[in-house]
Amino acid sequence: MTDTTDSVDVQSPAPDAEPAALEARSLTKHFPVRRGWGLRGGAVVHAVEDVSLVLRRGTVTAVVGESGSGKSTLARMLAQLIKPTAGEVFLDGAPAPAGGRSYAKLVQLVLQDPFASLNPIHGMRYILGRPLKIHGTAEGRASDEAIQDLLRRVALTPAEQFIEKLPHELSGGQRQRVAIARALAVQPRVLLADEPVSMLDVSIRLGVLNLLADLRDRERLAILYVTHDIASARYLADSIAVMYAGRVVEAGPAVQLTDHPQHPYTQLLLSAAPDPDRAEAPSLAGAGSPPSLVNPPSGCRFHPRCPFAMAKCAEQNPPAFEVGPGQTSACWLHETSSTVSATAVEERTTSSASSPSPTSSEPETPAG
Ligand code: ADP
Ligand code: MG
Repeated sequence: MTDTTDSVDVQSPAPDAEPAALEARSLTKHFPVRRGWGLRGGAVVHAVEDVSLVLRRGTVTAVVGESGSGKSTLARMLAQLIKPTAGEVFLDGAPAPAGGRSYAKLVQLVLQDPFASLNPIHGMRYILGRPLKIHGTAEGRASDEAIQDLLRRVALTPAEQFIEKLPHELSGGQRQRVAIARALAVQPRVLLADEPVSMLDVSIRLGVLNLLADLRDRERLAILYVTHDIASARYLADSIAVMYAGRVVEAGPAVQLTDHPQHPYTQLLLSAAPDPDRAEAPSLAGAGSPPSLVNPPSGCRFHPRCPFAMAKCAEQNPPAFEVGPGQTSACWLHETSSTVSATAVEERTTSSASSPSPTSSEPETPAG
């Protein structure tokens, strides 16, 4: 992928070589806003705007962004739990069949909260036996053997003991392993993990991340790893898409992107997140806050917070410029130094209204 691969990172090589399992093609989600918020009728939350993303077999793709940037909405559209306002989900290169059981068998969602996601009155035999039965795997029945096999796949051993446990007898990390095992019970090809470690103690996060890396490598799953923590994305993922206010602002190979971030927002995110063991979401205080998505900023949604904003940035949304091998950044700073990536050309408006020409893709330190 790059020659900068760090020994502590666990990415697999050459993610681009793998076939696409699940794709978001220009997905957009606008939620209607209910009355009583002091807003006009017909107002919408522009939660996700024209997001394209490819999840490949045997790779982890991370979606990174602050709270409210649209990550969960994107994951829920990919899981077909909500319908996109526009755009399409593609499964194995074809438009995905409507949701429901057959789709859920292929694409499984794992959520953030391992305490809420497991019914406290049921033991492991029931929690893991049910999806095995429903989806008709394990030779049509949920034998103890099949359940123990699942427990072993997520390293909950000795499995003969764990099969007897109730959720309250497990730690947070162990519960998240059970939630992952439950997702694996239906033998999915795609695992969508929405902040799977952010509610866990720092000390047990790495174990769950390594489990996901293991599932990618051993079982060739295509994994979406949603996180607010760019350091954990670098550690686990093969590629990263950085979201800001509903749009992907930068995407590329994980190590390359984090070593050489090109978008000012990615640079800000990295400067606020030097510590991979950070328990909390990085605070970007002092650098403004995410915008209202009811009335998102014109042009580039990051421009009100951007230290390098130019007049053009308030007028036109920047297309994705190619800024490195497989790396794109949606920022007007790259306009003179790069070519527009193929997918972005059509978005580009023809208006050539007076735009100050930026001089470099390496912006100077802002004054002030
Ligand atoms: P993230 O997962 O990155 O924190 P979300 O996808 O949950 O972000 O939310 C993106 C935006 O969409 C937020 O402004 C959120 O308030 C809004 N949103 C999410 N779900 C709904 C909904 N069902 N109705 C209205 N707004 C929603
Ligand atoms: Mg979320």
